[in-house]
Amino acid sequence: KLYNQVQDLKGSIRVYCRVRPFLSERSSYVSTVEHIEDGNITIGTPSKYGKGCKSFTFNKVFGQSLTQAEVFSDMQPLIRSVLDGYNVCIFAYGQTGSGKTYTMVGPKDLTEENQGVNYRALGDLFVLAERRKDTFRYDVAVQMIEIYNEQVRDLLVIDGSNKRYPFVHLILFLTSSQTGLNVPDASLMPVSSTSDVIDLMNLGQRNRAVGATALNDRSSRSHSCLTVHVQGKDLTSGTILRGCMHLVDLAGSERVNKSEVTGDRLKEAQHINKSLSALGDVIASLAQKNTHVPYRNSKLTQLLQDSLGGQAKTLMFVHISPELDALAETISTLKFAERVA
Ligand code: ADP
Ligand code: MG
Repeated sequence: KLYNQVQDLKGSIRVYCRVRPFLSERSSYVSTVEHIEDGNITIGTPSKYGKGCKSFTFNKVFGQSLTQAEVFSDMQPLIRSVLDGYNVCIFAYGQTGSGKTYTMVGPKDLTEENQGVNYRALGDLFVLAERRKDTFRYDVAVQMIEIYNEQVRDLLVIDGSNKRYPFVHLILFLTSSQTGLNVPDASLMPVSSTSDVIDLMNLGQRNRAVGATALNDRSSRSHSCLTVHVQGKDLTSGTILRGCMHLVDLAGSERVNKSEVTGDRLKEAQHINKSLSALGDVIASLAQKNTHVPYRNSKLTQLLQDSLGGQAKTLMFVHISPELDALAETISTLKFAERVA
């Protein structure tokens, strides 16, 4: 028990892995995932590619049949700790098409059943806040930003424009000393119900799509971050607790072939590469308890600096596709994850 408390105070880094199912029914599909047991996953390479297998160990591995609800229930204690004043970061990592957005947001045809972590996390915070209402008063506000080519863009602006909503100025509870997302000028919207959150997330998703052409889906090449700020006031002592949670859908981790892309596409790829490796370096050095943590090497790690390390809790949630043609990326994703575990 005491050990757990000490661990808690120091914050923690956890690594989860999720395998998405095949996207259409075809019995001839052979999965590269040979075996999953507890935190272990074994990837096999079929004989004609040089038979062999490699195992990786993480805190949890979710096979393709696990539902959104089952995945969320494993993350629930972490998310709930925000109400106790902890800072939490959850990153979805993986190649494009591996299921990052599915985990964080859900599929395109969103239902209550298949909605992702973002919706469930906010819903859960409201339920818990309501349950504690005789002892605590909670205020919740959200920000949503996108980082593209190391530039930050506010996503909670009036549809398709750069104009802010006026009520951002009404927020008094966040002072400049507030730890959290260091983007003081991104809109901060108060929310008090799940439907507020759904409206804002839909707005953010719509704004994210602006500027993207059909052929050139920019969302896979930018990081998006939903930040939830929570302030709780203990009604008897008057003590104020502040916690914040960052839910980050990272840009696709796939390597692009330098000989095939040029210009803007190459620049994008270099930015993504640099920021994902900077994130990996930060988490790995936190996991190794290094005294120097290289936060300054990317926009993402700079913005999240106060919520990475110290007492903060981090979950790196890596995603893999089961298809054979994804094998090289699958191995590279699992190696990235193994390094930060
Ligand atoms: P990414 O965000 O990593 O590019 P997506 O989340 O968009 O990947 O997933 C690619 C496709 O696979 C989408 O059509 C998505 O709905 C589907 N998908 C991903 N994960 C799952 C899952 N666990 N169960 C069912 N469908 C999934
Ligand atoms: Mg996505």
